[in-house]
Amino acid sequence: MDAGEARVRDMTTDNKNNLEVCEECGVELNLQVLKSAAGYYVGTCCECGPNSRESGYFRSEKKAEDYLKVITS
Ligand SMILES: [Zn+2]
Repeated sequence: MDAGEARVRDMTTDNKNNLEVCEECGVELNLQVLKSAAGYYVGTCCECGPNSRESGYFRSEKKAEDYLKVITS
């Protein structure tokens, strides 16, 4: 996936109507605030671990939560 594709996906609000389910563990891949060594970000994870990342990295959990609200509202 290149950066251009990610940017287009960020601008859509269809994510909440397009839930994916992990084929490995069957967990719904809901967008949520996640934390990695690089910082906080919005993405999905399941029993298998982090699945996708839908944002850049944020320094604070609050900023990541704000971003999550924007893209899911
Ligand atoms: Zn899984």
